[in-house]
Amino acid sequence: MKQMKGECRFLPNKPRRDGYVSLTRGGGYFYAHRYVYEQEVGPIPDGLTLDHLCRNRACVNPDHLEPVTMRVNTLRGETITARNAAKTRCDKGHEFTPENTMRKPDGRRCRVCQRASEARYYERNKEAAKERHRRYYHRKKAEKEAQNA
Ligand SMILES: [Zn+2]
Ligand SMILES: [Zn+2]
Repeated sequence: MKQMKGECRFLPNKPRRDGYVSLTRGGGYFYAHRYVYEQEVGPIPDGLTLDHLCRNRACVNPDHLEPVTMRVNTLRGETITARNAAKTRCDKGHEFTPENTMRKPDGRRCRVCQRASEARYYERNKEAAKERHRRYYHRKKAEKEAQNA
């Protein structure tokens, strides 16, 4: 599989419903990514389809496109979908059991990690509170010293 280089490139054209951008050129109707690829890289070999390595169908960066057979393209797409669906652990490796899983609008959240992040938040606040106290105490002390002087 080829390495992607650089950022995704987009045309001003609005993507179609399926995410691809289409173009009309000289009376023909083209996929924008195929068109740009052929302009900048060369003809796409017969029977091959351009696979978006960035999985961004609207992207026309030839560095993100690799000619592959239909079968590879489908397999790659399925692998990514399957990987996300089959994710049974959070990024830290805690298992997504029904008890340990919180449903959030943006997906699943692991309770262990959620608790850990709340604890970290609390610790940070505790340190900040201590620091405020310390400053207050020093100011009072300095004021007192100033009065006594
Ligand atoms: Zn891209
Ligand atoms: Zn976790």
